[in-house]
This record gives sequence, C-alpha cells and structure tokens, in this order.
Amino acid sequence: MKLCNSEYEDYHVHSSTFSDGLNSVDELVRFAGEIGLRRIAITDHSRAFAEQFGWAPKAYRSFIQRWKNVHNDVDVIFGVEGDILNKNGDVCIDIQGIEGNFLVLSAHDKIYRGDPQQITDAYVRAMQRHHEMIDVIGHLCHTMYAGLVDIDTVVEVANRYEIPLEINAANILNGKTDFDSLRKLVQEANQLYFNSDAHTLHELKSAKLSAITILDRERIRIF
Ligand SMILES: [Zn+2]
Ligand SMILES: [Zn+2]
Repeated sequence: MKLCNSEYEDYHVHSSTFSDGLNSVDELVRFAGEIGLRRIAITDHSRAFAEQFGWAPKAYRSFIQRWKNVHNDVDVIFGVEGDILNKNGDVCIDIQGIEGNFLVLSAHDKIYRGDPQQITDAYVRAMQRHHEMIDVIGHLCHTMYAGLVDIDTVVEVANRYEIPLEINAANILNGKTDFDSLRKLVQEANQLYFNSDAHTLHELKSAKLSAITILDRERIRIF
C-alpha cells in the first residue's frame, strides 16, 4: 500500500465560497499556511449536490481564474467533490458547469438516486467509465452504505485502473466510519490518500491527527 499524500498535503477540503464549509477560500488558505500545510485541494460539492439541497448560487465559479494566493506559498488546487448519480455510473463533476483540477469522486445519500443495494455496481461502473478523470474515490467506508458496499470488488477495480481510495479523517472523527470496511480498504488498496474532508478550520488542523489516534485504537496501520 502506498500513501499518495504527505502530512503537509490535504486533497479534500470544503469552503463556504462554493459549498458547505464554514470558511472562505481565503480564510482556508491563510490558515493552511499558518499550520504548515504545503498543498491543499479545495474540493467543494458538485452542481448535483447543490441542486439537491437547493443552495442559492454562491460566488461565481469562473472567478477562480482571477484568484491568486496573496497570503503565502501554499499550493492551492481548485478541485471538485463529484457525485456518483446512479447504478450506471453516471457522475456530476462540475460546479456551475466548470470542472476542477482534482476530482474526489464520492457517493452521497440523496444525490445517488439508485438502489442502495446496487451501490457497488455504481462505483464499479463509474470507475470503468471515468477512470481517467478520477483522482481519488472519496469516503468509501462511510456508514451510510456500510454493509452494502462490497469493498473487495470496489478496491479490486480501483487497483486495476490505478485509482487511489480515501481514508477520510472527518468521517473517522465524526462517527461516520465503518471500521471493518476501512480495515479491508487499508489492507487491499494499492494507493490511498489520507484527507481531512475538513468543513472547519479545526478539522483542517486536527482531523488527521485525531484520526490517527482512533486508527491506532482500531489497530489499523496506515504508516
Ligand atoms: Zn463527501
Ligand atoms: Zn467532502
């Protein structure tokens, strides 16, 4: 198993500028510099997610072209947390019609409209059809599909297409992780990212550290 990112890199962070994080892009970037991060991918939720929850339009996504990091040397990537929509593996990977430079592809309750029993097929089809665009599969071990996702099958297909899978720190902290699934994931995946999925500055700073303590207690070794 190879970990794709270091402790100084976080590839799954949410902002208030484009989705449901509590802090703006600029607040996140400034704080990331203060706590010693070197690279963050701000991966806000997709258009399908925003439509499902009826979010009012936020900042114009096209303005990321006009944004520069004026705070520090943190490398900032504007990504998207895309959604798997159904068992055929259709996906939504844009915000306001604009795709990102890093794609976390996840399944979320209510945005995934297929039968939960077919969620494994949904992951497999999404990877077969879109593997060239997927940078990491997000929070596969979330409790919302615990017992329904066939971890062996999803990891085998991910490995075949050289797609990394995610260990999601916020889900570990917030009681949203099925640890039997995560144990399997860590054993079987060829490539893993360890990301915060931070929605607050506290999570950006502490989620991964706290998650390591919990993983130790669960006897899951990722280093
Ligand atoms: Zn998610
Ligand atoms: Zn997320």
